[in-house]
Amino acid sequence: MSILVSPQKRKKLLKKLLISIQNHESAIIEALQNDFKKPPFETYITEINYVISDLKHTISNVENWSKPKRVWPSILNFPSSDYIYTEPYGRVLIIAPWNYPFQLAMCPLIAAIAAGNTIVLKPSELTFNTSQLITKIVEEVFDVKEVVVVHGGAEFTQSLLEKRWDYIFFTGSVFVGKIVAQAAAINLTPYTLELGGKNPCIVDEGADLEIAVKRIVWGKFINAGQTCIAPDYILVQGKEKYNFVELLKKEIIRVYGENPEESKDFARIINSKNWHRLNEMIDHTKVLFGGITNENEKYISPTLLDEPSLNSEVMKDEIFGPILPIISYHDENDLENIISKYEKPLALYVFTNDKKFAERMIAKFTFGGGCVNDCMVHFSNHRLPFGGVGYSGIGAYHGKLGFDSFSHQKAIVKKPNWGDNPIRYAPYKNKLNFIKKVLSWL
Ligand code: NAD
Repeated sequence: MSILVSPQKRKKLLKKLLISIQNHESAIIEALQNDFKKPPFETYITEINYVISDLKHTISNVENWSKPKRVWPSILNFPSSDYIYTEPYGRVLIIAPWNYPFQLAMCPLIAAIAAGNTIVLKPSELTFNTSQLITKIVEEVFDVKEVVVVHGGAEFTQSLLEKRWDYIFFTGSVFVGKIVAQAAAINLTPYTLELGGKNPCIVDEGADLEIAVKRIVWGKFINAGQTCIAPDYILVQGKEKYNFVELLKKEIIRVYGENPEESKDFARIINSKNWHRLNEMIDHTKVLFGGITNENEKYISPTLLDEPSLNSEVMKDEIFGPILPIISYHDENDLENIISKYEKPLALYVFTNDKKFAERMIAKFTFGGGCVNDCMVHFSNHRLPFGGVGYSGIGAYHGKLGFDSFSHQKAIVKKPNWGDNPIRYAPYKNKLNFIKKVLSWL
């Protein structure tokens, strides 16, 4: 049985965590600056404030979420009162990625604590400063029997996966997601996989291009494009392409200046391996804008690529960097042919003034979640599930859904000892026709 049985104790721990994070605000900003020059504004909005707001919401609701919920009883059990009890799974392993290293370690941790689990948390080895700070915060707040932070790379993570867990929560690539799923299968361990994918961003004929480019440039180049729900590639209606591209170029210059390398608002690529991976994706014969790189600085400028082939390097896998392919389409068949070529994405975005077109896109394609006339912002509503489908993930979290992901739901029927109906008991002789009649009325 978990040692965090009492919802009051969980709430107390979460409050302590909130204070500790608030006290370390400037250290978090500094750690992310040192890890990949993440701009302080972006760290505040996407890491610190996001986690704080998730914590406050969870603190306000944890006791209520933990209570048994009464549901309508079945007439077949009359008289009875029926409940759903939630209980923690037990010992949980959380594995986090590097791209939002604080938020993507802390938010699953908050949900797992709220649900009453004990946790081993493995942050990314690629963000040394943030991962060390996470250890410091966790050690300040939790007893080692409640939460432990461990550090290591691929081999170490695999050794963790060999152990038996009651739940595994993984955020990262599809490749490692499959390793996690295979390891979980050995002990039939339940899991959540928060993965990535190629997220299409459709710009329809007649869309408001001025607002579309603002929101796309923000969504694509925040965190230097290293965001699982960033628009991966643009599908723009052919007639709008010229104006759209010209506005995109202007907006990138307005936001990051003529030389984004000098901008304090543009992050770096996490490591050399990823810098090389991205550098190879830039086909210089296709560059519409940008295409400037600096290996020493792990810098890749915001780059627009013109009509790359669907079989080219940049269109094979998730880009996960500041490179944006622009592909034109003519009709909905083109959209279907292109989007369906890839696995189900984590996100899909539609910029349009045609509500029916937006509804058709939502209905036609399967994807984790998305927006109409914006990108990424579905992430910020804790009332919406956040998760993928197919290759982009299994399960979802955020808000109450996070609590649910880390809880086992027990069905309980409570019966009094009066009103015992003898019909269900053998011998069944002469009861069949009667029961058929009764059941047909219900
Ligand atoms: P990754 O899969 O390389 O690493 C994630 C975690 O797995 C790390 O803690 C790492 O130490 C561990 N790991 C790495 N290789 C391993 C191996 N061979 N065996 C066992 N464990 C291993 O992912 P990443 O590079 O840290 O993050 C980028 C990926 O994460 C992208 O694909 C992105 O789309 C995805 N992502 C998804 C979400 C989401 O919420 N759906 C959020 C952020 C990132």
